[in-house]
Amino acid sequence: MIMPSDSQKNALCAFAQAMPKVELHLHLEGSIEPETALALARRHGVSLPAETPEALQSWFRFRDFRHFIQVYLTLSDLLRTPEDFAFITTALARSLARQNVRYAEVTFTAYTHLWQNKGLHPDDLIAGLEAGRAQAWDEHHVELAWILDIPRNLSFDPTTGRYTGAASDPTVEMALAWRDRGVVALGLGGHEVGAPPEPFAPAFERARAGGLHSVPHAGEHVGPESVWGALRALGAERIGHGVRAVEDPALVAFLVEQRIPLELNPTSNIRLGVYPDFPSHPLPQLWDAGVVVTVNSDDPPLFNTTLNQEYLLLIEVYGFDAKALEQVSLNALRASFLPSERKQALEAEFRQTFQRLRSQVSLSDASL
Ligand SMILES: [Zn+2]
Repeated sequence: MIMPSDSQKNALCAFAQAMPKVELHLHLEGSIEPETALALARRHGVSLPAETPEALQSWFRFRDFRHFIQVYLTLSDLLRTPEDFAFITTALARSLARQNVRYAEVTFTAYTHLWQNKGLHPDDLIAGLEAGRAQAWDEHHVELAWILDIPRNLSFDPTTGRYTGAASDPTVEMALAWRDRGVVALGLGGHEVGAPPEPFAPAFERARAGGLHSVPHAGEHVGPESVWGALRALGAERIGHGVRAVEDPALVAFLVEQRIPLELNPTSNIRLGVYPDFPSHPLPQLWDAGVVVTVNSDDPPLFNTTLNQEYLLLIEVYGFDAKALEQVSLNALRASFLPSERKQALEAEFRQTFQRLRSQVSLSDASL
């Protein structure tokens, strides 16, 4: 293998940052930057554990899962009016535009906002989301769609561990009601341990019968059985994470054969302790096995990352070249739930831009 020269590596990094991209695994509430959180706190007269963006950024920094949930719920609690939801959506679109993300499927946990008893009605949520989505397009030319996810833990009784479905029915109802307002899929989020996919089968069946796609999180903190469950019981068309599928060769073969894409989030996995470090992350094994790999950022400010940063990791840690980076971007576009004509139009645009960028950053054909 020929090691790329420094100038070639710099050219590759410039290429990765400028190339058009699609983001498939990103939580709206987990995308709130410290500055945005402070603005929301001022708006509502709430005090946060830190008062400067820098101090808040360090409070965000992952310590353990409990702290992560505390940060997440604190951010979620700052969202109290339709305008707040529009505000964070526009802020997210600005950040995506800066990274040349053209389209994103953004996960939103509607149920948590109702469960937090903030006096919000479902109509307030969708009104804010839709205002933000329109503004994202008008001002930043970023196209957004929504995935509504069921917070899995809130559907189990904390003392008996029995499935209650508390978060499932309201989430499915909102997702179905908002199909013509940007919602394209039903997701399943939250902590996987003790909350297997199977009990959610009726919820996903209802959503799928209503024309929504199925995109549960699985195989992050639990092994292959969780991914099998998501595929068999929930009809998963893509898997959020799914990284631990690597532990079962039969499952990897199935994912390859059925072309089920995985939404990988390497930095998130390292911060949450799924793997000790980047070199131990199985991204290269999954890629080499022929799995449809996409790379995403999950909760970027909470994990101190961005989508561009994840693409840089592909170069720095996993030795991806320009051709492989283009493949990752196109994998995400093709794995998206955009209508097929829109996908084709965007793919033509992406390919043209890749070509132009290659010459701009002086990537020789030899480095492809
Ligand atoms: Zn996630």
